[in-house]
Amino acid sequence: MTGHTLTRRSIIATGLGTALAGCTNPRLFDSPPPAPANNFGALKPLDLRPENLIKITVCTRPLRPAGPRLEAEVIGDKTIVHNYGHGGSGWSLAWGYAEAARDLAAASRPTSVTVVGAGAIGLTTAIALAETGAKVTILARDLPMETRSTRATGVWSPSSRIGYRSATGDDFPARWEALARRSYARHLSYIGRAGHPVEFTPQFYVRHEPREAPLASDHSGGNEFLHLGRNLRGLTPPWSERGTHPFPTDAGVRGGLGMVFNIAEYTRQLTEDFHAMGGRIERADIGSVAELARLPGDVVVNCTGYGAKTLVSDTSMLGVRGQIAWMAAQTDRLYGIYHRNVTALSRRDGLLIQETGGNDYFGLGDDSETPDRQEFLAAHAKVAPMFDWG
Ligand SMILES: Cc1cc2nc3c(=O)[nH]c(=O)nc-3n(C[C@H](O)[C@H](O)[C@H](O)COP(=O)(O)OP(=O)(O)OC[C@H]3O[C@@H](n4cnc5c(N)ncnc54)[C@H](O)[C@@H]3O)c2cc1C
Repeated sequence: MTGHTLTRRSIIATGLGTALAGCTNPRLFDSPPPAPANNFGALKPLDLRPENLIKITVCTRPLRPAGPRLEAEVIGDKTIVHNYGHGGSGWSLAWGYAEAARDLAAASRPTSVTVVGAGAIGLTTAIALAETGAKVTILARDLPMETRSTRATGVWSPSSRIGYRSATGDDFPARWEALARRSYARHLSYIGRAGHPVEFTPQFYVRHEPREAPLASDHSGGNEFLHLGRNLRGLTPPWSERGTHPFPTDAGVRGGLGMVFNIAEYTRQLTEDFHAMGGRIERADIGSVAELARLPGDVVVNCTGYGAKTLVSDTSMLGVRGQIAWMAAQTDRLYGIYHRNVTALSRRDGLLIQETGGNDYFGLGDDSETPDRQEFLAAHAKVAPMFDWG
């Protein structure tokens, strides 16, 4: 590894997901983190040659300014529990909201439940309900590996685009924190499983001078996003300045371990766990609230993500476009960097390059899912020079 002199900056960036969200990350320990004992061994540079590009995917984050919808509604004689609208935090928060949705459904003492939706929220909610002994069926237009959830970055980012400060209630932060903590604990239970659905890998915030300007203007429409990462301080491994690192920058590098979701394997594992509990998954397109209320089951749980905008006419829902360029997996170098507003993340199931725009307003109000090759090339040009070593 080449040594680079670091300049300590006031910028605190800890965790790729947090960097994406533009807020600080919680620390694992109450005491200040010790000086880094290692730099995660000898890192190999990521091979970002453009010819390694396999595909470009785009997905729409389901943003509700008031925060995710988690509530029970009775239509006719049917209880419908809504669990959708988790913005850029759906994977991170999935288990917390799944267990809370299960608790809402429990008031009806259901023996059979229909869950609509097979993304991160639908799968985890279905498992949480099946654990109560209820017979659970998932109905979904897109089966698990086809959902928008499979197109996510796959990092712990529990407060990313979770709502607007002005539209969430005063009780939201405490409620969110409790659900985020529950979710984190449950993700931890997947660490060490065959295939590594969840794992911790090194992540680095590689600074650049001058600091990259955001691509989208702040406070569009006067709305400010909530950033609650600080509330989870002490939960995740600490980050610290890296005295030595291989990245060709003199502006400084911060790094630590970050929770990563290997989404292909996590989705497969969740699907298998659900089937092992007797759950069934069927393809179905639900066209209206009336149809939702006629579905079989004592309780119906609506986990349709951005689809809820149309299905239950949730006009508050906003789409936030996000694009990822995928290269073949490089499993002998599993780590990520965030540099000049671009994430390059090497996961077991692929190497991702993503322009984040530098703040939460990037992609806001845009639900087009057409890949943009120019966006990839521009992001690549910013981040590729950081791997020009080795
Ligand atoms: C680029 C990008 C990166 C992201 N990165 C992260 C990250 O690193 N960490 C993180 O925590 N979150 C991340 N997110 C956010 C996360 O992906 C979403 O919050 C999450 O996928 C939402 O899951 P969901 O199950 O609600 O929705 P979806 O995955 O969209 O699933 C919805 C399900 O409902 C079904 N459905 C919808 N309408 C109907 C209908 N009418 N009838 C029948 N079925 C229907 C769909 O077919 C599908 O099965 C990212 C999002 C994007 C776009």
